[in-house]
Amino acid sequence: MNIGFIGLGNMGRGMALNLVKANHKVKVYDINIDAVNDLNSNGCIGCSNIVDTVSNVEIVITMLPEGSHVRDVYLGSNGVIVNANKNTLLIDCSTIDIDTIKNVGEEASIKGMKLIDAPVSGGIVGADNGTLTFMVGGLEENFKMAVPILNSMGKNIIHAGELGSGLAVKICNNMILGTTMIALAESFTMAKKLGLDQKTFFDISSKATGMSWAMLNHLPVANIIETASANNNFKPGFAAEMMLKDLSLAQTAANSINLSTPIGSLALNMYKEFISKGNGSLDYSAIIKLIDN
Ligand code: NAD
Repeated sequence: MNIGFIGLGNMGRGMALNLVKANHKVKVYDINIDAVNDLNSNGCIGCSNIVDTVSNVEIVITMLPEGSHVRDVYLGSNGVIVNANKNTLLIDCSTIDIDTIKNVGEEASIKGMKLIDAPVSGGIVGADNGTLTFMVGGLEENFKMAVPILNSMGKNIIHAGELGSGLAVKICNNMILGTTMIALAESFTMAKKLGLDQKTFFDISSKATGMSWAMLNHLPVANIIETASANNNFKPGFAAEMMLKDLSLAQTAANSINLSTPIGSLALNMYKEFISKGNGSLDYSAIIKLIDN
């Protein structure tokens, strides 16, 4: 396939390289010229603008930081929708707000293009190793068309429903993760202050009803499980500022349907406070420092 890939940061770089490994012809673009040059010397075709990147490709993939970037890249006068061929399949993998993807989807369909949202879970390691989980929103036929491409970059490709549903899953899932991390941080701090050995508490709670994915994989306490960032001075992992972004998206989504999510809202405020103290680049599990002080 001929693919145009836009957004070559922490995630996009590895994803584009995995497409090359799967023998696709991949044109790449980023506003950061060094990122383009790097991929150009690793089997991609470097482009200096979006127009060249999307001309004569069947698929366009974007992996951008936020909704504003996605709007610029797709809807700008030199952007994807004005310049890509009719029938191009557009795959946005960015974690952004649901309204933005729906607006872009309307503009795309006016031009006869197909759009799916396909945000990911699995982090930079997953992007580099081709083991991402893709949660996909969009028409079934567009999802089916995307599966072989997404398979080159991930190992779980799941259709969630109509356009925006992939993002809805991602946002709800990460609200579980963020709120669970705070519950873990409070509980492990309380266990310690009640005089319990934290390893003993882990051994029991991880086999009782307190157990969670976050406890088994991202425990905010050092030297109990191997994969904890806490073992490594909270080097990310998944940065606190990214959790803040996802919890903000969750509150935007909740407000859009007039749903009160007090725990999600409190978690957002706690991450805001933590990051305002200069901790944004620490792993999100470092939120325990706000509690255990
Ligand atoms: P990043 O900031 O490392 O990369 C984004 C890239 O987009 C940068 O290279 C930037 O120069 C480029 N860019 C910005 N505006 C552009 C424009 N107008 N035109 C072309 N390129 C432009 O971000 P990332 O960590 O790769 O994350 C990308 C997305 O994936 C985000 O939405 C993030 O929330 C999501 N995500 C990240 C992770 C992770 O662990 N990093 C995990 C899951 C999901």
